[in-house]
Order: sequence, then structure tokens, then C-alpha cells
Amino acid sequence: MAPRPSSYLIIGSGVFGASTAYHLIRRYPDASITLVDRDAFDATSRVAASWDWNKVVRADYADIKYCELALEAQDVWRTDPLWKPFFHQSGIYWISHTQFAQKVIDNYAKLGRRADLYSLPVEEARKLYGGIFDEADYTDVKEVLINNTSGWADASDALKKVIETSIEKGVKYVVAEVKALKVDDHGICHGVTTADGNILEATHTILSTGSFTTKLLEASAKVSGVKDLRAGDRIISAGVTTGLTRLSDEDLGKFSRMPVCIQENPPERGASNGTLPPNRDSQVKWWGQCIFKNTQEVLKDRFVSAPPDEPDYAEWKVPGSLKDDVNFANKATFGEKGELWNLEQYRICWEALTPSEDFIISPHSAASQLYVATCGSFHGWKFFPILGKYVLQMLDGKLAPDLKGRWAWDRELPDPSDLVVWPRKELEDM
Ligand SMILES: Cc1cc2nc3c(=O)[nH]c(=O)nc-3n(C[C@H](O)[C@H](O)[C@H](O)COP(=O)(O)OP(=O)(O)OC[C@H]3O[C@@H](n4cnc5c(N)ncnc54)[C@H](O)[C@@H]3O)c2cc1C
Repeated sequence: MAPRPSSYLIIGSGVFGASTAYHLIRRYPDASITLVDRDAFDATSRVAASWDWNKVVRADYADIKYCELALEAQDVWRTDPLWKPFFHQSGIYWISHTQFAQKVIDNYAKLGRRADLYSLPVEEARKLYGGIFDEADYTDVKEVLINNTSGWADASDALKKVIETSIEKGVKYVVAEVKALKVDDHGICHGVTTADGNILEATHTILSTGSFTTKLLEASAKVSGVKDLRAGDRIISAGVTTGLTRLSDEDLGKFSRMPVCIQENPPERGASNGTLPPNRDSQVKWWGQCIFKNTQEVLKDRFVSAPPDEPDYAEWKVPGSLKDDVNFANKATFGEKGELWNLEQYRICWEALTPSEDFIISPHSAASQLYVATCGSFHGWKFFPILGKYVLQMLDGKLAPDLKGRWAWDRELPDPSDLVVWPRKELEDM
């Protein structure tokens, strides 16, 4: 008998799922590839962390592997006609109190990459860009890192375009809420069941469900009886708040050529905060420094962190203290210059984080034909053009050993207690 042709069911159309669909259809134009998401890909608001006004696209990493991967992604952002229109090489301004600048400079050198990249003392840095960052908080900071080859991308526009292109090439897009994986008594995953009672089947089921992954695996473990489907300590759902302001024409004149600014925080203040240059609607965006979880009883006696139950993850219902967290980021970056700005469109963005900040791109060890490709760990978006390439390598069993180990479902997990991005507070305490 001829082997059954491969079919692919990708759950979640954020950057991990969309990139996988795009790379799959380019390689297998005749294959059955279905991308499933609870939200339409062109909806005006989505729950995906990948759906956003803009995202930072940098290669400034202390970890040389992610530096290398980010440079690979940037090469695509800069040159490929599909991705290029969305990339803006604004440069980046890093305010860091650690040895981060030197590590980045060393990594570029080790990788043999030349870039307009340097660090300079705070007093000189303050004068750059017309002095827009001269009132920033430089506590314990000696040098600022400038990388003029980093920048940002129009996030939701790029996501929509890549999905549209994949659909044109033959990917089917289905709007449905996935309830559980369909795993049989032999531990084989055949697809998923949806909230409207449908069954979607494929020979490969790939979970790219971001912050919802923990909850979906709990439900799937209950329905199938395969307890090891659960994520356990591998993944935590965590949230960060963003907010925007629309600049006046006068301010636009001063800030239109600003770089991305990222500010590392002392541990007692939280993780980093950052701001992105004005988008096409003249809006500047910030993210706050507070990272939090939302532990809930998802099934009887089963507690995991997951986004709120509402269909939109209650992402626009932002408590005052989290609005203040974003307002604080404005003050820490621009000082009095931003005092009169009206911040608006606050949003909580939910993400899947691992204790090592590594992604998971791996077969799931508890069920065959089931794969996991998600966990951007607050830095996954910039790799959008190349994520699918690595997911295909994983499906083929051809991931390089170092990446296979790093991104494995079963890997040694470090103690996250020192990790600055690890959530320590609960949403309900905000
Ligand atoms: C505030 C914030 C700022 C960030 N900034 C940056 C940045 O500047 N640069 C950068 O590189 N990275 C950044 N990141 C990280 C980046 O956004 C994420 O790593 C990346 O978007 C995760 O992609 P994903 O595909 O795994 O998940 P998501 O984008 O969250 O997509 C998951 C999708 O799965 C769908 N889904 C889930 N469960 C179900 C279900 N049961 N049924 C149907 N559909 C389902 C959801 O609807 C969603 O569309 C940031 C993250 C946050 C939270």
C-alpha cells in the first residue's frame, strides 16, 4: 500500500505557526496544510503575542546562538521582498548596567559580522538624537550600546501578509477554538477537536499556541488520559503591558528619527522596559517592566498560569497599576519630555515563557505525530522569517544537535528564580 500522504495541522497563527505554514507550503506545494486559530488572521484585534503595532528586530544578544539566529533573520528582513517592506532599520539605544554591550560587540566579532555597533559613555550618549534620551534613568549605567543596524517591524501587517501569502500558495485557514488534542490509546495524535464539535485530522499536529499551550495540554491530558501531555515546569504563561501615545506634529519632528530604546532595570524594578519609534499613525509604544502570571484552576485540582478565560484574554482590561507600569517606562526613558503625553490603548500581551528563555521546537515525547513549536519567551518575534525553516528541520529530524538540545520538549530546566523575566506576581494582585 502506498504511504498515506503527509498532512499538517498547525494550531495557532502567531509567528511560530505562520512561519511554519509558509515554509511548509513552499517546500510541499501539494500537501494539505491547515492553519487553525480562534481569531481571523485579518481581525482588527487578536490575542496573539505576535499581533502588535510593532516589535523590536534586533540581533543584540549576549547569547551568541540567538545573536547568530537573529542576524540570519535580519538578513531576510533586509533583502527578501516579502519581509522587507515591514522592516525599519532605526537603530537601537541600549541602556544597560551590566556587561551586555561588550558581550554583544564580542559576539558580532566572533561571528565575523561587521556592523555600525559601538558603545559610548553616558555623557556622550545623552547628546545623541537631539538629546531625546538625556533625561533617561542612567542609574549605575556607565556606557550605552548603539547598534545602527537593529530596528523594528510593523508586526500585525507582516503577520497578515505572510498568512495571506501562504493562503495564496495553498494553505487553508480555519477559524476555530481548539478544545483538545485527539490522542488515541496507542499514544498517537490524530489531530484536534474544536469547540463547535468538529474534528480536524492530520498526520502531523503542530502546537503553536503561545500562552494558551499550558491550558490546552491540561485539557488534552484529561480527555486522552495521557498525563504526560501536560507542560509541567517547562512553560509558564506570563503577561506584560504595553501602551501608546500619539505624537503631535511638533513632537513628531523631534522623535520621528528616534531609535528603539531598551532599558535594563535593576532587579528590584523588574525586567527591561522599552520604547519603539513612531509607527505610521505617529504612535510611540512602550512596554512596562512588570511581568506577571495568572495562576488559575483550569481543571479540578489542576492549577497553571494561563491567560484569563475571556475569548480576548481580557487583553484590553488593564488595571491601573499596570497602566502606571507603562507610564513609568515613559518617565524612565524620556523624563519630563513625555510628561504631557496622553497614554492610551493599554494592552496586556500574553506569552509562553520557558525557564531558560529558549523556544520549544520539538516532537512532544508523550504522543507520536505531535509537535510543539512555540514559547518565544518574550523575544521570539524577530525570528519570524526563519522559525519555519527550523520547524521543518525538526520535523525532518535534522535540527543541529545544539538546537535540538536547546529547544527539546524534554531538556534539563534551569532554576528560573534568578531569571529577570520570570513572573513573580499574580495578575490579581495588580
Ligand atoms: C509585550 C510583548 C512584547 C514583545 N516584544 C517583542 C519584540 O519587540 N521583539 C521580539 O522579537 N519579540 C517580542 N515579544 C515576543 C514575541 O511577541 C513572542 O515570542 C511571539 O509573538 C510568540 O509567538 P507564538 O506564535 O508562539 O504565539 P502567539 O503569537 O501568541 O500565537 C498563538 C496563537 O495561537 C492561537 N491559539 C491559542 N490557543 C488556541 C486554541 N485553543 N484554539 C485556537 N487557536 C488558539 C492564538 O489565538 C494565537 O493567535 C514580545 C512579547 C510580548 C508579550
